[in-house]
Amino acid sequence: MKILVTGGTGYVGSHTTVLLIQEGYEVVILDNLCNSKVEVLDGIEKITGVRPEFYNLDLLNYEDVNKIFDKHVIEGVVHFANLKAVGESVRMPLLYYNNNITGTINLLQIMKKNNVKNIIFSSSATVYGINNTSPLVEAMPLCATNPYGTTKIIIENILQDLYASDDAWSVVSLRYFNPIGAHESAILGENPNGAPSNLLPYIALVATEKLDHLSVFGGDYDTADGTGVRDYVHIMDLARGHIKALEYVLANRGVEAINLGTGNGTSVLEVIAAFEKASGKKVEYKICPRREGDVATSFADVAKAKKILGWEATKDINDMCMDLWKFVTKADTAENYY
Ligand code: NAD
Ligand code: UDP
Repeated sequence: MKILVTGGTGYVGSHTTVLLIQEGYEVVILDNLCNSKVEVLDGIEKITGVRPEFYNLDLLNYEDVNKIFDKHVIEGVVHFANLKAVGESVRMPLLYYNNNITGTINLLQIMKKNNVKNIIFSSSATVYGINNTSPLVEAMPLCATNPYGTTKIIIENILQDLYASDDAWSVVSLRYFNPIGAHESAILGENPNGAPSNLLPYIALVATEKLDHLSVFGGDYDTADGTGVRDYVHIMDLARGHIKALEYVLANRGVEAINLGTGNGTSVLEVIAAFEKASGKKVEYKICPRREGDVATSFADVAKAKKILGWEATKDINDMCMDLWKFVTKADTAENYY
């Protein structure tokens, strides 16, 4: 069975592609490489023994994307290809609205035209905004605090409207919490183009002495140690969630939004301690002012994923830090890491 993976050379897409191939799916990847490297395909091949067919294409290019559907009988789409940097989205909202929303509308129009109506979409815990209290439940009201988050809410709404208009569609929007870590082999991990903005890559840069300290954004939150609490989920657990969601989408019709997280909150200081233990390195840090738009605490209610997909996370923060450390210190990654 052939699955189109948009954004398949990116962080979540590449790890999910590995599992898709290992589960026996034939994967076709579309990615414009704006935030990933073509060498990721070598990594996928090294792990699985299979090199997925790859199209270096932008989703904004309707005609060429349509040709993929002429050439292949696609049964379902796993749609990762969005821009994802919150700060950049505030500075360049039109870029984000155009890339994420226009790109998704193009994809959905092409799918509809070709009668492909099974889709998994990468949503985010950011859709819960700042007013909901954790554990965050799928039915809570959504609210965005930046253009990136708005694109996720708009796309979820588009997918709901699409199903309302035609019940042949089968849609799952997966709301990821904080994916971190790397493939156990250390062959694949997170290695985007440009400077990181998330916590774990920064910690790794400090531990590898490329930066002298980490700025901890806020030490006075209403949390046990005053630092922000998040639900970190291992990238391979997250990838496995997509396999479960794909099985669900292929067997059902409907539209669902489902959290993918562990259900546990970990503070910034706890992450630093886990990383120090995994790496044997000291992670110097300074407590700095809060980052605008951050919530104190965000973790998932994971009951729906368990009930509907039969999925739950299996790896803890120590596993995540160990696999990330293995990845960033591997000889061919160490030189090129950020
Ligand atoms: P990523 O940037 O590593 O992967 C996205 C891929 O999509 C990149 O390879 C990029 O080149 C490609 N892409 C972007 N726009 C494109 C376009 N118009 N046409 C073709 N390719 C395009 O990001 P990721 O961390 O793998 O995230 C995947 C998805 O998950 C994104 O939709 C993101 O918003 C969502 N998400 C990620 C996180 C996270 O922390 N990583 C959390 C919540 C949600
Ligand atoms: N964080 C931090 N320093 C950094 C990056 C992040 O203290 O350099 C904190 C941030 O305030 C939040 C947590 O780490 O409490 C996770 O942030 P990240 O940007 O990784 O994810 P998100 O904000 O999307 O949950």
